Amino acid sequence: MVNIKKIKMKKCPICEKGNLEKKKIKEQMFGVYLGEFLAEVCDECNESFTDEETTKKIEEAAKEKGIWGLGVKTKITKTGNSLAVRIPKKIADFLNLKEGIEAYIHPDAGRVIVEARV
Ligand SMILES: [Zn+2]
Repeated sequence: MVNIKKIKMKKCPICEKGNLEKKKIKEQMFGVYLGEFLAEVCDECNESFTDEETTKKIEEAAKEKGIWGLGVKTKITKTGNSLAVRIPKKIADFLNLKEGIEAYIHPDAGRVIVEARV
C-alpha cells in the first residue's frame, strides 16, 4: 500500500488564511528600489516574509544606497501657536532639503505628510 502524504502548505501567520509561496519580490525602502529578493508570499493578503539571510541582504542593499537608518523617531515641539517637526540632519542631507524651501503639509488617513520639492 502506498502511503500518500498530504503536502502541507505553510499558512500565512498574518491572515491565517492564505498559503505561502516562494517568490521573487521587488523590495524598496523609502521609495528607493533595492532589488529583487526571494521571499515567501501569501496568496491571500500578499504579505511577504523573508528569512534571516535575505533580510540581511536587504539591509546591505539599503546601506549601500545610503538609506539605512533614515527612518527615525522625532519629537513634535511647540512653536508659538503651531507645532513643529524636527527633520533630522541625515534625512535633510539625503533629500538635499534646505532652509526656506516651500513645503506642502497635509493629513492623510491619520498621518501627516510633508511634501517638499527638492
Ligand atoms: Zn496572508
